[in-house]
Amino acid sequence: ANMNSLDVHRIGVSLLMYDVYNITDLKTDLNYAIDNEEFYLCYQPLINTKTNKMIGMEALLRWNHPHRGTISPKEFVPLAEETMHIIPIGEWVVRQACSQLKSWHDMGYKNYFISVNVSVIQLQQKGFARMVLNTLEETGLTPEYLQLEITETVHMEYNSVISKNLMRLKRQGIKFSIDDFGTGYNSLNYLQSIEVDNLKIDKSFIEDFKSKVNQSIIEMIILLGHKINAAIIAEGVETKEQYDFLKQQECDIVQGYYVSEPILPEKMTELFDRL
Ligand code: C2E
Ligand code: CA
Ligand code: CA
Ligand code: CA
Repeated sequence: ANMNSLDVHRIGVSLLMYDVYNITDLKTDLNYAIDNEEFYLCYQPLINTKTNKMIGMEALLRWNHPHRGTISPKEFVPLAEETMHIIPIGEWVVRQACSQLKSWHDMGYKNYFISVNVSVIQLQQKGFARMVLNTLEETGLTPEYLQLEITETVHMEYNSVISKNLMRLKRQGIKFSIDDFGTGYNSLNYLQSIEVDNLKIDKSFIEDFKSKVNQSIIEMIILLGHKINAAIIAEGVETKEQYDFLKQQECDIVQGYYVSEPILPEKMTELFDRL
């Protein structure tokens, strides 16, 4: 068809409106998602590069929306952070992940740990540490098997509520990872206040690992991590070349499509026998 610039403009505006309405809808829909059981978790193996064995898995949240199908956390987690829905959702994630791992342990698949993403919005709540400890008690999972990945998607001034939550959980044996290390706002603050167990290298650095700059960043993160007794986890490892490079750089743990994409719990039990 023959469109003039005004038509193009109109289409642009209506697409924009459509988007705005959709976001408002999604925010409203978050009100019902937990009760309607629309959330589920996928799990992605974490592999020790020394032994090539699976040592744990990261829990990754999915939203099965009644009209829109599966929605990525990249889309709805920021909305849930804005509306504070991330607090009940995050609690649901911790509970679901801990009880899943406990049941794998009970099936005889021992020694795996589980890594759960937490938003700084959650860490900022006074009751966060208590919620996590209660959940561990209720599910029967030993605290040493739980790892929390701190993701700094929104800027948050490091404060005493956060540090109290971290220290209380740390004392009970829970482990901490700094997610997407080097891409957030002030992740170095965490290193000052608690002994961090893992630094996670974001997949953006791994994707183009041949670039001189990315290689320097990877080497620097590994060096820093080892100096402070933290293990290094690289995410987004898709090829053997990346795997071999990271192993040679003494990156401790890798995660990515090269080994497995995030999968449903049923498929995980098949992997236990292979990895
Ligand atoms: P993240 O924590 O950095 O998680 C890694 C992301 O990379 C996941 O995307 C995973 O599916 C993807 N990935 C893993 N291996 C590969 C690979 O080899 N290649 C590529 N291209 N991608 C790979 P996902 O599952 O879409 O999650 C996106 C982000 O959403 C996560 O990034 C995390 O920040 C957030 N998220 C996920 N689950 C939760 C949750 O339960 N709570 C909170 N607060 N955030 C969550
Ligand atoms: Ca993560
Ligand atoms: Ca992240
Ligand atoms: Ca990442």
